[in-house]
Amino acid sequence: MRNETYDIVIIGSGAGGGTVAAALAPLCADGVRMAVLEWGAKLGPEDLTGRELEMARKLYVDGGAVLTRDGAITLAAGRAYGGSTVVYTGTSLPIPERVIERWSVPGLEWSDIDQRCRKYLAENNAHLLSEELINDNNRLFREGCERLGYRVAPFPINTHGCLGSGLCNLGCPNGAKRGTHVVQLPQAEAHGVEVITHCRVTSIDDRICRAVVTPPEHGEASRWEPGEYAVHARIVIVCAGALHTPALLLRSGLGSKLPALGRYLTLHPALILVGEHDRPIANFRGHPKSYWSDQFLDSHGFVLETCMYFPFTTAKNLIGFGEEHAELMRGFERLQMILVLANDPARAENRVTVDRDGHPVVDYTLTEGVLDALHASMKEAARIFFAAGARRIHAPAGVTFFIEARDEERLDELIPRSNVLPGRISITSAHIMGGCRMGREAATSVTDAWGRVHGFDGLFVADASLFPRCSEVNPYVTVMALADRVAERVRSDARELLSR
Ligand SMILES: Cc1cc2nc3c(=O)[nH]c(=O)nc-3n(C[C@H](O)[C@H](O)[C@H](O)COP(=O)(O)OP(=O)(O)OC[C@H]3O[C@@H](n4cnc5c(N)ncnc54)[C@H](O)[C@@H]3O)c2cc1C
Ligand code: SF4
Repeated sequence: MRNETYDIVIIGSGAGGGTVAAALAPLCADGVRMAVLEWGAKLGPEDLTGRELEMARKLYVDGGAVLTRDGAITLAAGRAYGGSTVVYTGTSLPIPERVIERWSVPGLEWSDIDQRCRKYLAENNAHLLSEELINDNNRLFREGCERLGYRVAPFPINTHGCLGSGLCNLGCPNGAKRGTHVVQLPQAEAHGVEVITHCRVTSIDDRICRAVVTPPEHGEASRWEPGEYAVHARIVIVCAGALHTPALLLRSGLGSKLPALGRYLTLHPALILVGEHDRPIANFRGHPKSYWSDQFLDSHGFVLETCMYFPFTTAKNLIGFGEEHAELMRGFERLQMILVLANDPARAENRVTVDRDGHPVVDYTLTEGVLDALHASMKEAARIFFAAGARRIHAPAGVTFFIEARDEERLDELIPRSNVLPGRISITSAHIMGGCRMGREAATSVTDAWGRVHGFDGLFVADASLFPRCSEVNPYVTVMALADRVAERVRSDARELLSR
């Protein structure tokens, strides 16, 4: 076991960790020693091949296929220098005022979060895409919504020099997507923050982080030799994401003092839906996600977004096997795609625990309300596909594998609610939130409104696990805004915390 000593240790380098590292980095000029310990690898452009299964293995936790305990939902989280920001699509939405009001965290004001969101939108160059980057898939969604009179809006996207290669979820090979690996982590390193990759923290014991560094299977080697480490710090900021932050704190024995730890997990459950056109659709050239619709947010609790998934992910999300499945996949180049995101309630029983080996286990039950929303979304997406000219669609809860355009009037009968069952339809999540929710008391929350863990001086959380409820919109900018607040609190407490 080797020993290392820092003033501040940040665990994880994604939207939360990268932001905290950059925001605290100026302290290095005052002699503060700071390290980011990151489980994943730092990949260069030559590593980003765009091959789906290879990149899933290199960039995602468990190859992108973490399953809930009942096997009903697949969870995707990034594992890399930059965390999930390496694989996110870069859609950049500030959190609405009504959501922060619903969160109802004492001391957390929407105006403060909004101002911080806007700072990171500017820093990440969030902007609307030019028309030449809008591909058929996105144009058809816009046209379908417009024909039906549904609200539809362009997404601000955080790229600089996007070449429209469509590979965002496999890591941008062109360095165009402005995740923390491109913007905040290099800023932090320029100030003297050390980023230690291939370094997995296994537990935290009174601000000593136990960590294991492994030899690289891919990407740059770690700054540290492979082996076991005890990393001593005065301040520890956990930013391992909403799966791994609760798991790490549970492994570290905090559960007995923090009954809410791991609980109130929300997943923004998602469905990938497809409609088939007569002609090839350019959905893998241009930026993959340029439009969304909140037409059904208030009435049914879901939003619709454009998306483009690669063949393996698409195939996995269709229902059934055999000839019809193969037939649809053979028409891959003719598929229009829509992603549904349903708002889910924060329930204590939806939670992360750890198994005997300390790995996270997710218990999550889909409520009837969420299943209702997913059911309604399949029919509304079908209407948009047909309005855009699709000749047939595949609805995961359909009574037949394909539903033809001529049967559009019969959608209620052909997509019955009784078929919308966990395990029968393929549900995914890339927006994992909660597990260390902010709040006033240790009985019902894990941190205060500034990310300070109740009852543990010098221990902070700064990632998506802070969310007390679902964000209702794509969450990364909100994660950055919350992490920025945590950094502000660390800065103002630093003199006292670092003098102990
Ligand atoms: C495919 C995909 C697409 C997405 N698209 C969008 C989008 O377009 N817009 C949007 O707003 N949001 C999007 N998101 C969600 C967004 O990326 C996340 O909400 C956000 O990155 C969460 O930030 P975080 O800091 O909590 O975790 P992450 O960014 O996931 O970072 C956590 C980091 O901690 C590391 N880690 C975990 N455990 C340990 C440990 N024990 N020791 C050391 N390091 C550890 C991980 O390797 C990882 O690098 C997407 C997510 C995915 C997966
Ligand atoms: S579409 Fe743009 S941001 Fe996405 S991978 Fe290609 S160049 Fe990068």
